[in-house]
Amino acid sequence: MPSAQPFQKNRVLSGMRPTGKLHLGNYMGALHNWVGLQDKHECYFFIADYHALTTDYADPSSVKENTLEVGMDFLAAGLDPEKSALFVQSHVVQHAELHLLLSMITSLGWLERVPSYKDQQENIVGKDLTTYGFLGYPLLQSADILVYQPEFVPVGQDQAAHVELTREIARRFNFFYPRGGQHPRDRGKHPGIRPVTVVRWEGEEVLPEPQALLTPSPKLPGTDGRKMSKSYGNFILLTDPEPEIRQKLKTMITDPDRIRRTDKGNPEVCPVFDLHKVFSSNETQLKVREGCTTAGIGCIECKGWAADSIVAALKPIQERRKPYEEHPERVWEILEDGGAKARKRAEQTMVEVREVMGLAPRRRGSIGE
Ligand code: SF4
Repeated sequence: MPSAQPFQKNRVLSGMRPTGKLHLGNYMGALHNWVGLQDKHECYFFIADYHALTTDYADPSSVKENTLEVGMDFLAAGLDPEKSALFVQSHVVQHAELHLLLSMITSLGWLERVPSYKDQQENIVGKDLTTYGFLGYPLLQSADILVYQPEFVPVGQDQAAHVELTREIARRFNFFYPRGGQHPRDRGKHPGIRPVTVVRWEGEEVLPEPQALLTPSPKLPGTDGRKMSKSYGNFILLTDPEPEIRQKLKTMITDPDRIRRTDKGNPEVCPVFDLHKVFSSNETQLKVREGCTTAGIGCIECKGWAADSIVAALKPIQERRKPYEEHPERVWEILEDGGAKARKRAEQTMVEVREVMGLAPRRRGSIGE
């Protein structure tokens, strides 16, 4: 009888920019999901410090500190360095090398059409973003992904377009550089400049096209009712102490039509209730529905219950963080160890990439000797 095949885990890769301490939106939109993935897959999670430089190149003074804060939040949220490689992007130089090589085959038009490129140029004020690095950041994201040849990339809906671009770039790369195949010139085809004209080359590919693993992210409003975000200043940090959480909740906007305590409210249009849906028990949610729609409770009381639920949810996260805050050198060690694991995997890809692009050294492993 043939022996059973060992279970092969899928490889998963995702990253986050070092924006400093993370907030509840970062946690529910990504980290919470990553923690669940690490038991089922071979996971690589990184802090994207190169990406921070695409917008903060003129003043990188906070990049290192912010990287450490995000590293602590990764660990506090429950990412386990025994299960996942946790690392800093710039510690794995293969990201930069693949970015450079992919830039040779990437049309400027593809990058200029990325929706967030124009949006961010218009919305981020006080910074000159007419740079080569900023235009190329979606390509750097593609290199970040493809250098691990992952099957899946967990992303929110707003990042799905970036995974699609990554797939197009991988397709174009595989067309030009098939593993052990003919060059397109000899196949009488030209891949053209638009992605739709790229003909899929059958066979094993050096850069397989990854799938987006869409993260089910609940609606998580900030205190002003808009999406929770550092740039809106409407966030609750994972590290916020209880009094601060209660204070922030007190200022949160509610159902705009519930002006007086005696007015009946509608939880479905209230951002505070969105928080209850994520953090409160069914029992508390029922109590809120009943009390709000009959004017049986006031908003202050309701916000107090939301604060109770958030404080309870953050307690284990804050407790896990404490020892790392006392010993930040331990976090750097974990990120170094994760970097070594990531470099090893990324280098496997780069050996193949260099080879099919005609860059392979005479002997494998002879680069830098
Ligand atoms: S009682 Fe709660 S759900 Fe109703 S409007 Fe006030 S804060 Fe919102």
